[in-house]
Order: sequence, then C-alpha cells, then structure tokens
Amino acid sequence: MFLTGYFKSSSLPFRTRGGVKVPHEKSTALEKTVVMPAPKQVVITTLQHIGAPCVPVVKTGDSVKVGDIIADSDKFISAPIHSSVSGTISKISKIIMPDGAKVDAIYIESDGLGELSTKIKPPKLETKENLIKIARESGLVGLGGAGFPTHVKLNVSDDKKIDTLIINAAECEPYITSDNRAAIEDTSDVISGIITVKKMLKIDTAIIAVEDNKPHAIKMLQDAINTQKENINLVKLKSRYPQGAEKVLIKAASNRVVPIGKLPLDIGCIVMNIASIAFLSKYIRNGIPLIEKRITIAGSAIKKPQNVTALIGTPISEIIKFCGGYKTEPKKILMGGPMMGIALLDDTFPILKNTNAILALDENDAILPETQDCIRCGKCIESCPMGLMPTLIESNVNSKDLKELQKLDTMNCMECGCCSFICPSGRPLVQAIRLGKKLLKDNNISKP
Ligand code: SF4
Ligand code: SF4
Repeated sequence: MFLTGYFKSSSLPFRTRGGVKVPHEKSTALEKTVVMPAPKQVVITTLQHIGAPCVPVVKTGDSVKVGDIIADSDKFISAPIHSSVSGTISKISKIIMPDGAKVDAIYIESDGLGELSTKIKPPKLETKENLIKIARESGLVGLGGAGFPTHVKLNVSDDKKIDTLIINAAECEPYITSDNRAAIEDTSDVISGIITVKKMLKIDTAIIAVEDNKPHAIKMLQDAINTQKENINLVKLKSRYPQGAEKVLIKAASNRVVPIGKLPLDIGCIVMNIASIAFLSKYIRNGIPLIEKRITIAGSAIKKPQNVTALIGTPISEIIKFCGGYKTEPKKILMGGPMMGIALLDDTFPILKNTNAILALDENDAILPETQDCIRCGKCIESCPMGLMPTLIESNVNSKDLKELQKLDTMNCMECGCCSFICPSGRPLVQAIRLGKKLLKDNNISKP
C-alpha cells in the first residue's frame, strides 16, 4: 500500500546490491515477431515446468486436436500440457531433459490442419477461485524462464495480504528480446491482464518494471497506462544484470527485501512475467491454452536472428532452419541467455513452455577463458546480488565441507552467474556452487 500513487510516471528508483554490466546484444529488439508454421512433428515433454512431471493421458494411435490435454498431474505444483497441433500420437518414449532429468515425451504427427479442440471456449471469470482454476486449466507457467506454475503463485491464502503486483519486464540477459516484443506487440493484453489479476486478488498497486534500455516498450506501456485510471506504475530500472531476478527486481522496483527462506508473498508481493500476464489475458478472452511461445533466436552462428512464435514441442533445428539456418558451425547452443541458459548437446531438443531464447554461438563467442588460480581480488563477492562469497563457497565445495557450505548460505545462490562472469581468473564459480547445492540437497540440507 505504501506505493500507492508513488511514481505514476516512470522514474529510476532504488539501488540494488551487486550485479554486473553485460553487453546487450539486443539486435532483434525492434523487429516484429514472425509466426512459424506448424512443423510436421512436435515432441512435447511431460515436464514443462518446475514441479512434478505430468503423466500422459493419451496413447499411441490416438487422434488429438489443438488444445486437447495430453498430459496432466494430480500434484499441486504442476500444470496440464496441451497438444499444440492436430494429428496423431505416433510414440510416447523417454527423453533426456537439458538438466539431465529423464521424462516421457509425446510425439505427435501433425495433419497440417491445426484443428481446434471442441472443448475450447472462453472461461467464466467471477472470483479469485475462478482465476486460480483458469490459470491451471490454461497450462500457464512462468514464461520468463522460471516455469513455475502460475495457478500456484496466484493461490494466496486469505490470511496473506498482497498489496503489490510486480510485472517483470526487465529482461536483463544479453540477446533476449522476447519480453520486449511482448511489451510492444501485446500491450493491451498486458494491461488488461494486470487489471484482472489486481481485481480478482484485491491488489492495490501494480508496477511494471522495465530496464531503461527498452525505450520503445517503455513508451508503449506508459501510453497504455495513461489511458486508464487503474493504479499501475511504470518503473524504469537501470540496465544492470541480473535486474530481472525475482528478489533483485522486488528490491529495485519496490524497495522491499525478501528475507532468506521467505517468498515474495510473505512481503506482500506477487511477481509475474510480462509474457505470462499477456497470455493470461488472451486465455480469458479466447480459451486457447498455452500451445505456443515467442522465442528469441540469436547468436553469432544464426543467419537471421529474430523473434519467432513457434508451437510448443517444435524441434530447435526446425526453428533455426526457419531463421535461415546456421551461417557458421555452432560451437555452443544454449536454451536461454548466455548468463543462465543451459548448454544443449545439439539442436534436436524441442522447445518448452518456458523457453525464451535459443542462442547458437560461433567458435569465438563460445570460447571460455582459461582457468587461473584465484588472485583474491574479491570481485566475485562485490558482484553477488545475494551477498554471498562465491570464492569461499568454491573452496568448500572442493573440500566437500558441508557445514561450511551451509554457513555460507550456499542454497541462497540464484545461479545468476555474475561471479563467474566478473572473475579475472576465469574460475567456473557458478558451476562449483551448483555442485555445492547438489551436495547439500543430497545430504538433506537443502534449506537456505
Ligand atoms: S551465481 Fe550465486 S554466488 Fe554467483 S553471483 Fe549469482 S547468486 Fe552470487
Ligand atoms: S573474482 Fe575470481 S580471482 Fe577474484 S576473488 Fe573471486 S574467484 Fe578469486
């Protein structure tokens, strides 16, 4: 509530700790998103979110239409998965996810007709409970990359008062411009999605937080805000990585701090990605579940970098072919940005609901610096937005000292990669910290 009317016009608010200056490389920011036709086959994995994998509810030989549920789960932290094409299920078999998890994947041969399911109709929205149900039925998960099921995020118990909805449009990773395009191309859906969530959850204030390197998006959003009377504020953030990380964003946009081990809702906030809020608004209008995604295809090995809307389950190789193919042999293919993305073995993997970018880098861009001894410069500590000591965590990972790793708040690392990026000795700090987190989890010491 303390933000009501605080900065209706955009302003540069509060300082946040740490972070690094990264090159923007956002050459695709001003180009309109291109819609890619359906591929001959989609491969839809049964894990498209953070939480429990879904279980297939179809079998080989079944016919499906666009929007039919093909996998679901009875677990709370999960979201149903829908067919993105009309056609026939040709196979269900195991697939290795980019993080190594092995899950079922549903292979669907498209009939090329794109016929919509007869079950698709706009949902009825009258109450908060409806909204939560609708968010689940739509299959929506955090589209900025996190993949957290939206219905879980919106399911706030009545004893928690949420006074601020923060829309994350920071998009601080180099290369990625898909959220920028959502702000520009889906502006009215962004605003109507915000108004709906505010109304249903009785939230006083909304803040749209955008980095100041997106003047076009800022203008579109500000103009749209000015045309209505809702309490929505636009906040321009300094372009500094990782401004879009949830805890960093909350501090930068509202000057609130999420204590260690707590959630944004514990301090009265809900954070939603800008593409997620726009999708929710569209779903309420047309009832078409989450079957496609806007993705930035970029990097030095791509012939024609651009934003593409592709069906969930489209193989990356097909999308790259649609973008003119490779101009040189890629030495690294990343799902996501260069700071937090996951390196893929090859381009055969399909896109997921939360894929926001595919980067293909040539040899020059893919080379990692040679690792040297730590020179105790302290730059990794200065850069850490969470106030951690990456160099100390690394040495304790090497000596497998679990007690020290716990004392050093290792589990509180959000794997932003600032420490590795800034290290003059090229030390793979974030990789070591990931290993440390795994060690703690394997030993049931996973609480921060
Ligand atoms: S990866 Fe972890 S330790 Fe390194 S800067 Fe980010 S939060 Fe800090
Ligand atoms: S930035 Fe690199 S060299 Fe400097 S203290 Fe950290 S680990 Fe050591």
